Amino acid sequence: MKQRIQNMRDIQHFGEEGGVVPVIDVASTSTFLNPADMERTFHGELEGCYLYSRHSNPSVTAFGKKFAALEGTEAALGVSSGMAAIATTLDQLVSAGEHIVASRTIYGGTYALFKNLFPRRGIRVSFVDMDDLSAVERAILPETKVLFTETLSNPLLRMADLKGLSSIKNRNGLKLVVDNTFAPLLVTPADFGADVVIHSCTKYISGASDMISGVIAGSRDFIASLIDINSGSVMLTGPVMDAKIAHELYLRLDHLPIRVEAHSRAAQFLAEKMEAHGVPVFYPGLKSHPQHRLMSDHRNEGFGFGGMLTVDCVTSKRAMELATELQNNKFGLYAVSLGFSRTLMSCPSVSTSSEIPEKEQREMNLSPGLLRLSIGFTGDLETQWQRFQSGYDRLLKETR
Ligand code: PLP
Repeated sequence: MKQRIQNMRDIQHFGEEGGVVPVIDVASTSTFLNPADMERTFHGELEGCYLYSRHSNPSVTAFGKKFAALEGTEAALGVSSGMAAIATTLDQLVSAGEHIVASRTIYGGTYALFKNLFPRRGIRVSFVDMDDLSAVERAILPETKVLFTETLSNPLLRMADLKGLSSIKNRNGLKLVVDNTFAPLLVTPADFGADVVIHSCTKYISGASDMISGVIAGSRDFIASLIDINSGSVMLTGPVMDAKIAHELYLRLDHLPIRVEAHSRAAQFLAEKMEAHGVPVFYPGLKSHPQHRLMSDHRNEGFGFGGMLTVDCVTSKRAMELATELQNNKFGLYAVSLGFSRTLMSCPSVSTSSEIPEKEQREMNLSPGLLRLSIGFTGDLETQWQRFQSGYDRLLKETR
């Protein structure tokens, strides 16, 4: 990963007057001095020309180059949201009559897309427990095209066995698509054979909870296919990244490694304190996490185990009472999303996973009282722990 960060750093785009940052290229359309070149560009005979920003834009291209260097892929394309990244990727890879095998512990929005929208397009999705590789194999049909998983699942923080999934997809001639939103820099799915890696940049990549955006990373051919003027799912459905957002993200990538490290350090510190205090905490950096070893086998050195942890409060009422207490004592903010500099807390069973019916939530062991914490890095860690401990002790410890 050190080398990848260096490669990313060495990609330099200068401003028009030699500025240390590139200009934001806001033009929606570009001039052709020779009209014949426009025709050749449309027909894909001329490379390197910008035509129209739904197809390509210099600021979006610059962000894509830096992101691909970091994610270890040939190319990357910024899009308007994480959901756009997932939907357009799968639109490109799967057609009516075909089938996807997806992890059942995934973000509620992705679950709803697969469960409710894809069948309307004639695409079937089987949800399986990705921990169980033989169940994955059994779910594969002659029509299956894609295995879809999150690296670290939302909200259960289950680590996907990317090595195992990759050998299954190779044996069956499938594509492995990985949503790496929870594990930027921690894990590089392309190293284990992922064909396409997507992120909601709304989260850690942005880091400031001030925008919605996404990115798709993969082979040069696949990324080019997304913007093909006749058959590209991004080109033809249009959820492109705005040039101003691309510019912001381009700059923020430089401090992503520092931020991820700081999130992980804070989360590891708090998780250890919580565990020692008897809090039912779940964090991949703790030896008690069932996939601590698996994550250790997959992760890049130097970035820890990420900023996400969960505390099981058994009922949603108690989770919300604890969150209210922790919000009042300034430990964190009760809000969905993650990857912000401050701690964000939410109760997935009644928010980001509420699209998943209760019965299925139970089957996947999603406790109604799960409190998901995206640990921020601002503030003094001891003070943060004292705030958590006092809130927890006051509300929950005696009643457990
Ligand atoms: N993937 C994961 C793992 C998420 O948690 C989310 C949103 O929470 C998304 C994708 C969707 O991202 P966006 O809100 O940027 O569309």
